[in-house]
Amino acid sequence: MAVVGSGHNALICACYLQRAGHRVTVFERSRQVGGAVCTEELYPGFRYDVGSSAHIMIHTTPVVQELELHRFGLVYLDLDPWAYYPTPEGPHLAFYRDLDRTCASIAQVSPEDADAYRRFIKDWGPLTEAVFALFQEAPTPLALLRRMVGVPGPRQPVAAGLQEILQSYGDVIQRRFRSAPVRAALLWLGAQSGPGPDERGSAPFIGWHAVVHRVGAKHPRGGSGMLTQALAQRLLADGGVLRTEAEVASIEVAEARVRAVVLASGERLPCSRVVSGAHVRTTLLELLAPEHLPAALREAVAATRVGNGFGMALRCAAEELPRYRGAPTGEPGDMHAGLQLLVTSEDAVRRAHAEFLLGQSASQPQVIAMTFSAIDGELAPPGKHVIYLWSQYHPYALADGERWDDIREREADRICEQLYRFAPNMRGKLLHRHIQSPLDLERRFGLLRGNVMHLEMSLDQMFAFRPTPALSRYRTPIAGLYLTGASTHPGGGVFGASGYAAARAVLKDG
Ligand SMILES: Cc1cc2nc3c(=O)[nH]c(=O)nc-3n(C[C@H](O)[C@H](O)[C@H](O)COP(=O)(O)OP(=O)(O)OC[C@H]3O[C@@H](n4cnc5c(N)ncnc54)[C@H](O)[C@@H]3O)c2cc1C
Repeated sequence: MAVVGSGHNALICACYLQRAGHRVTVFERSRQVGGAVCTEELYPGFRYDVGSSAHIMIHTTPVVQELELHRFGLVYLDLDPWAYYPTPEGPHLAFYRDLDRTCASIAQVSPEDADAYRRFIKDWGPLTEAVFALFQEAPTPLALLRRMVGVPGPRQPVAAGLQEILQSYGDVIQRRFRSAPVRAALLWLGAQSGPGPDERGSAPFIGWHAVVHRVGAKHPRGGSGMLTQALAQRLLADGGVLRTEAEVASIEVAEARVRAVVLASGERLPCSRVVSGAHVRTTLLELLAPEHLPAALREAVAATRVGNGFGMALRCAAEELPRYRGAPTGEPGDMHAGLQLLVTSEDAVRRAHAEFLLGQSASQPQVIAMTFSAIDGELAPPGKHVIYLWSQYHPYALADGERWDDIREREADRICEQLYRFAPNMRGKLLHRHIQSPLDLERRFGLLRGNVMHLEMSLDQMFAFRPTPALSRYRTPIAGLYLTGASTHPGGGVFGASGYAAARAVLKDG
């Protein structure tokens, strides 16, 4: 059994299959395992997450417990509050796992919105829990409808609930909340999966935060990559094989059955089953010879919407922590625990998105800062810190013909300026910065066009439509070839549900 790629979904799938008695070999083209869940010491003494950081959705799956990843070095640290908005003028907003504490924080800005937030979480809680249950299994349109229509919130009649799901998260926020800082914070949180604030059917990208109040947000001690390191160790301990710097160049097929994988080095490894965690277009359009897929399916795969990227990241070493306006202390505190929302306003998010739609990089990028060294001494030398800046919106293909390799420093400067607006003390305090443009993300992780979710997370590409209706259950028309990863249901993010469900599909087929 061969597994292509060592993204976390592929590794999870590999671990379950190895545990069930298959003899699994994982092939990863990079020298590091983990795909976009990976931590590296890119500057001496500082451990940088080079992909994801906030681990939330994986805690809705049984994966971490069932694979006993704590035995392989995985320790999760709570990010609480998981989000913090250092509003430039007023009191700061903190989103704790505890709903009452969150509402108390919002009440300092707007008592009315504190009540609205409580109602919002109560309305969306039952629905999102039901949808997350659906995320653990291969999707069918019927199951989806049953879950969505059958589980109204305590105050929501069915039709009203369904109507809200079909709205944009921008609509939901405008309808339910009044104060500018609350709206800006929520809009910026909703924007993190990619779809813009006014995209129909995107309301769940804000509604799902109800689940965060239950499971919390976490970061592995030692960095995000400790998750994939633990998965790799688990696989090896169970007798699996892991080969890095081993790019799969093709999947050999005869009589509509998988026969072998062939590496870029020319090595051929016979096998009757392959699970690919690479991008769906890479797997089906590049690794397979065209004659092995029906033409209509090839067309459907080619027509999946990868989009135009949406974000970029900076990984910095810093002499001190951000000291946000209105919060005089630079000592580690609530503001440094989780996602620090450096969002100017609702309008600023919309403006950045509008520029993105025109193929322009945001003139004033909106940023999330993360400073996990404030809660984890393993990430930086004593007294020093890491600071990661995730920024939107930045198109992969630029309308004016500029090239990312020419403008990455300029764009990074703009991102830093947004940090300095909120935390003026940081100017001159960055010791090193590692830039990841959308093009860099593609080169490093195989994330086509810099889309960290592989395919756009729009309603028409989710559930039974991801990556295409015919491929939505992890199987392909080729016997023995399966798909997993962010290209498949339930999509991108540190989740693992795809790897978990794909393993079950393989085991079911025997
Ligand atoms: C900068 C950044 C920040 C992010 N932040 C967050 C966050 O905070 N929270 C969150 O939930 N999500 C975040 N994400 C998204 C999340 O990390 C990804 O959606 C998710 O990790 C994708 O996992 P995957 O299992 O699909 O595999 P991927 O991570 O896409 O890995 C696929 C692997 O396959 C390998 N591969 C591809 N082709 C071949 C081949 N031919 N042969 C061998 N190997 C191959 C690649 O090298 C790669 O290692 C972030 C992503 C990025 C890039």
